[in-house]
Amino acid sequence: MKKKLFIFLTLIVWISCSSWGFFAHQNINRMAVFILPANMIRFYKNNILYIKEHAVDADKRRYSDTAEAPRHFIDADRYGKKPFDSIPEKWVDAELKFTANRLIENGIVPWQIERTYYSLVKAFRERDSIRILRLSADLGHYISDAHVPLHTTENYNGQLSGQTGIHGFWESRLPELYSGEYDFITGPAKYLENPLKEAWKMIRNSHSLLDSTLLIEARLNKSIASDLKFSFSERGDKIERQYSKEYSRAYHTALKGMVENQMRASVLMTGSFWFSAWVDAGQPLLKNFTQTEISKEEKISSDNAESLYIKGRIIGRAEN
Ligand SMILES: [Zn+2]
Repeated sequence: MKKKLFIFLTLIVWISCSSWGFFAHQNINRMAVFILPANMIRFYKNNILYIKEHAVDADKRRYSDTAEAPRHFIDADRYGKKPFDSIPEKWVDAELKFTANRLIENGIVPWQIERTYYSLVKAFRERDSIRILRLSADLGHYISDAHVPLHTTENYNGQLSGQTGIHGFWESRLPELYSGEYDFITGPAKYLENPLKEAWKMIRNSHSLLDSTLLIEARLNKSIASDLKFSFSERGDKIERQYSKEYSRAYHTALKGMVENQMRASVLMTGSFWFSAWVDAGQPLLKNFTQTEISKEEKISSDNAESLYIKGRIIGRAEN
């Protein structure tokens, strides 16, 4: 009996999760297309499958490129009690104060959003349709990551507070279960004067939600019998463990719309960043753009990233 239990326990695996889950990332990018103005929407709608499918390329790249991992988070709490008083907003100032190595170690998502934004402006200016699509997909990804409270802390998976697994719980399991009930009406994309300031604004807001994200789950964990917390399902020779529907519903309700609000804000910001990049590029006419083929090298490198990803060869941090 004991032996059987041991085997059972060793075969239990967590259902794998990535940032916002594939499901949420893809849907955020897809929905952002619909808030674009008339002279942009046709081009994006014609390529909506690309924008959606490539919403998770940035996560896939983490498996083959060591430089990729820090682009998805910022461990704000590593900069002290009042991190946002301490970290200079501009990369050059922050680098001067902390060194590039330290910044990279603690995650660079706000600067990555800025960098991808200006690459997108350039791609619009050059009328390079495939780069526009690729960078739009990536930008949507980084913006969405910045909306996840657990992407702003070194306790990113609750591993420092006895809550390991909360990362995928919040950003994958909950939207997969409940986003059908969400209201995604955001209003049209708006022009953003200062993309870097906007990136910091979303991170400050996400970080302000971190305490509730963790405390509410910790409280719930105490109030619900442990055998109700997880559900198990069989897949092949493995038993997969995930947060049960009852536990997920209780957490989701106690969060009072937090996941929904953050997902909706991700849609609005993604569309607004795309729109602003197009405006900053001088509003080029998109109707003549055709989708160009990706180069052979690009295809090989993306296939390579994908196969490493499937094999689960991880470089860098797993949960962001
Ligand atoms: Zn990510």
